[in-house]
Amino acid sequence: MNWARQIHIKSAAELEIMREAGRVNAEVLATVKDLLKPGVSTADLNAAAEEALKKHNSVSPFKGYGYPPFPASITTSVNQQLVHGIPSKKRILKEGDIVSIDCGAILGGFVGDSAFTAGVGAISPEAQSLLNVTEEALRAGIAQMRVGNRTGDVSAAIQNYVESRGYYVTREYTGHGVGRQMHEGPQLPNYGKAGSGMPLKPGMTIAIEPMVLIGTAETRVLSDQWTVVSADGSLTAHFEHTVAVTEGEPLILTAL
Ligand code: MG
Ligand code: MG
Repeated sequence: MNWARQIHIKSAAELEIMREAGRVNAEVLATVKDLLKPGVSTADLNAAAEEALKKHNSVSPFKGYGYPPFPASITTSVNQQLVHGIPSKKRILKEGDIVSIDCGAILGGFVGDSAFTAGVGAISPEAQSLLNVTEEALRAGIAQMRVGNRTGDVSAAIQNYVESRGYYVTREYTGHGVGRQMHEGPQLPNYGKAGSGMPLKPGMTIAIEPMVLIGTAETRVLSDQWTVVSADGSLTAHFEHTVAVTEGEPLILTAL
């Protein structure tokens, strides 16, 4: 992939702008999270996200992205849908669903990229466990975002956390550098070998995004050419933060 070769180190001033873009992203996601209730359509969620983005003078890099152009500002992926679900008036949330919301926000020429998965009403213990493992895998990955480590240390931490609990990570979709573009280098798979890959340097900004499946690592894409689902129809989850490497602690740019 061409984007994976272009690594842009951000200055302190650029990181401050990215932090603002990330904060807007976080506020938009919080707005959408509050709406996850039975009877709400995924198109309603997208409309609320667009309104929140507008309030912050921001837009999402998702709209118009790729081919066929993605038609919305967020992705809404329900249950067996892993990523890239297209918001629709026909998809009405019901009690027990789990929904992944992925959103981007552009501000000051920089992109924030973040996602979470949450339940609608009461969810099964199986679903709750999947959400916990995926969110903790993201934490495990972020903890490795330190000078002296390599991208493979982050990937291996995610893979080890997930697989040691009996779940699967996708092989087809990865984390990525993010900055003026939504996708930059380095690529950051959710599996890999510790000590391999690109050395992490201060000013690198990477979207870390574990995508976890219960029954299989296999996925397929629906006929809408976007929605990625688990091949066996089992539940999936996805959490993502844009994170900067610093001289010290990793800096989560898309935290509230
Ligand atoms: Mg994302
Ligand atoms: Mg991403």
